[in-house]
Amino acid sequence: MQETPPPVCVWLKRDLRLLDHAALAEASIRARGGTVFALFVYEPEVLAQPEWDPSHTEFQAECLTEVEAGLRRLGIRLVTRRGEAAGVLERLRGETGFRLLVAHEETGTGVTYARDRRVRRWARETGVAFVEVPQSGVVRRLASRNGWNRLWESRMTAPQAPPPRNVGYGGRAVIGTLETAGILRCRDLGQPPDTKRRQQGGEKAALATLDDFLASRGRRYSGGISSPLSAPTACSRLSPYLAFGAISLRRVWQASEARLHEAAQAIASAATPREAAGARAWKRSVAAMQARLHWHCHFMQKLEDEPEIESRNMLRAADGLREGEIDADRLAAWQEGRTGYPLVDACMRSLMATGWLNFRMRAMLVSFASYSLWLHWRPTGLHLARHFLDFEPGIHWSQMQMQSGTTGINTLRIYNPTKQALEQDPRGDFLRRWLPELARVPVAHLHAPWTMPPETQRAAGCLIGRDYPDRIVDHAAAVREAKRRLGAVRGTPEARGEARGVARRHGSRRDRRGLMRQDPVRRSLAGDRPAPPTGALDPQRRLPFLDADER
Ligand SMILES: Cc1cc2nc3c(=O)[nH]c(=O)nc-3n(C[C@H](O)[C@H](O)[C@H](O)COP(=O)(O)OP(=O)(O)OC[C@H]3O[C@@H](n4cnc5c(N)ncnc54)[C@H](O)[C@@H]3O)c2cc1C
Repeated sequence: MQETPPPVCVWLKRDLRLLDHAALAEASIRARGGTVFALFVYEPEVLAQPEWDPSHTEFQAECLTEVEAGLRRLGIRLVTRRGEAAGVLERLRGETGFRLLVAHEETGTGVTYARDRRVRRWARETGVAFVEVPQSGVVRRLASRNGWNRLWESRMTAPQAPPPRNVGYGGRAVIGTLETAGILRCRDLGQPPDTKRRQQGGEKAALATLDDFLASRGRRYSGGISSPLSAPTACSRLSPYLAFGAISLRRVWQASEARLHEAAQAIASAATPREAAGARAWKRSVAAMQARLHWHCHFMQKLEDEPEIESRNMLRAADGLREGEIDADRLAAWQEGRTGYPLVDACMRSLMATGWLNFRMRAMLVSFASYSLWLHWRPTGLHLARHFLDFEPGIHWSQMQMQSGTTGINTLRIYNPTKQALEQDPRGDFLRRWLPELARVPVAHLHAPWTMPPETQRAAGCLIGRDYPDRIVDHAAAVREAKRRLGAVRGTPEARGEARGVARRHGSRRDRRGLMRQDPVRRSLAGDRPAPPTGALDPQRRLPFLDADER
């Protein structure tokens, strides 16, 4: 009698989908007609990380619910367990006798990096074959950034992974009897409830978001992504789906390539100048969004290549600059949206309520924390990571450092929150929505409420220092001091030499399609140009103290 082959275990982590799932496809091929089962582990150390938020638990549960139903239709059982991953795997090995474990590679936090190393050691010691397959353009054990763009493109253009076939419980009835913890929500994990009005999790929602973007919303991407008013609909909003793996980057890339092709054809066949202009707007927008799909992996690759940048300055010459100076009151004011700078406070409160913010406003929040308040990027980054539904360690920590001036390879990009407010929200609609205490403040003072004379404050029912905080620092003076401190460090010959090494290791290289001619921060970002002010205010006239090089 032919022996039934042992089952194959697919370990799901941040790849909560069925389509283009290379790990499932690989497992089904290697199972050779035998049983495949899926495992998801609720790891206490991951859930206890300061980056974790109840919104992540609920979003993840929504993704897992769909995955479980989809796998069931394919005859694959999803087993979930609580515990340390290597220990859970060892128990399951005892229960099922699996000898092959397949998972996607993950570029995660220090905690998940250490866990993956423990799992690899466990696999070596027990003789389990552990196969990890890539799921994005991030390349493991990359020797040099030269040639990386080509590798990235070859991954994005490769055929998508086929759905798993020829699997099922087969002769392994034991899989059907395995204990499972089920899909756990906040209450099961002893976490506070998720209070965010956030995006819905799951592969269906991911696909619908992509379709909707490419069919209608995406036309306004170019020119619409900078203002916090237009960005929520103009941006693709795919980030949480990509972060939890509810959709593959390749799928998004290939769908956008098809849309780009369609736009090019529409330009060529346009019957009227108006039609041609519309098609050109589409082409510009899709191309700008595609550049960011490239950056997605470009930034993650930095953490993959140097995991230490999660907590240590990329430019070591910057060590000691901010480390000793955490001012708890400033940190709390920034975290709670009480700095007295309306756009900073409105963005923070909006983020805490919804779990999302557009790029420019994220960068502005970090710039304010790192330059104006001189706070170290690690505690501020942890706060943002917790509240970003799309927290992606590789993008996040690289961006935190870039927006804090500690990479050595990017020019300082300092945002003036008042100028940004005037440019991006001239009528103050966003400010009033998130700062009800400023509801009756006249627009002439709304963007800089500390300029309100006492009688205006009384008339508006908003006394500065009582109903809304006085500004926490004088931004202009604080930024002058920050530039002086950073300049003194970054300008030394040692720092310049070190920066050249950082550029060799992490800097972007020219690519064939011109997606990234240089590190994105130095480009004038196509699609991220500030929309021209539409209100009656002239920022330069109202704010003569703006520095010429501030954004
Ligand atoms: C301080 C800071 C922290 C950030 N942290 C994260 C994070 O934890 N997770 C995250 O996904 N993005 C992060 N970003 C990048 C960016 O702000 C978000 O990707 C974007 O706002 C998500 O919205 P979207 O999906 O609608 O983006 P779109 O503009 O529609 O872009 C499509 C996709 O491209 C990628 N992308 C977009 N912008 C960038 C960028 N600047 N760098 C790298 N990839 C990009 C994302 O995967 C995004 O989903 C951060 C930016 C800053 C300034």
